[in-house]
Amino acid sequence: MFTDARSKKVILVSHCILNQNAKIDRCASYPGAMREVTQALLDAGVGIIQIPCPELLFLGLDRRVEKDKETMVESEDDRVGVLMNKTVPKVLCGKISYDLIYQIKQYQLNGFTVVGMLGINGSPTCGVETTWENGKETDGSGIFIKIFKEECADQGVKIPIRGIKAQDPQAALDTLKELLNS
Ligand code: SF4
Repeated sequence: MFTDARSKKVILVSHCILNQNAKIDRCASYPGAMREVTQALLDAGVGIIQIPCPELLFLGLDRRVEKDKETMVESEDDRVGVLMNKTVPKVLCGKISYDLIYQIKQYQLNGFTVVGMLGINGSPTCGVETTWENGKETDGSGIFIKIFKEECADQGVKIPIRGIKAQDPQAALDTLKELLNS
C-alpha cells in the first residue's frame, strides 16, 4: 500500500505558520504563510498538517478585545493567556489534541514517519520551550502544547515537539532542519 508519489512523511505545524492572518492583532510578521519555513517544508516534500488555531476557535479573530480600550500587545497576550486557561478552552485543546493524535497514530500504524510538531515559542497557547505570562516570555509550554503533551503521554504517542518564532526565520529554519534530520 501507499507505493505512489507520496513521501510517507508528515509534520504538524501550528496554524499561524501557514496563516499569519489568524494571529492576535499587531502580531503578524508575514502577509500569509511564514515564507522561509513554508518553502523549506515544500522543498523537503513533507506533508503538512495544519493544527487548528485554539485561540481563533475559542476567542475569535479579535480575541474578544475591548475595542474602546487602549491596549498593548504584551497586556493582550496576558489577557488571552488567562482566558485560554479556563475550562472550556482546555476542553477544546483536548479535543484538538485527541483528533491530532488519532491522525498521528494512523500515519505511524501505516509506516509513515511523523517528523514532529512545530509550535510557536512565546505564545500563551502554542509555546513549546517558552510561553507568555505576567507581561513577559517565560520558560515552559503554552496551554495547548501542555494538553497535547499530556494526551500523547496518556496514549503512548511520542513525537518531537519544537518551537519557532516568525520574527526569527533563520532560527526557525535551523529548528526545522533538526526536526527533518532527526
Ligand atoms: S500561536 Fe497558536 S493560538 Fe496563536 S495564532 Fe498561532 S496557532 Fe493561533
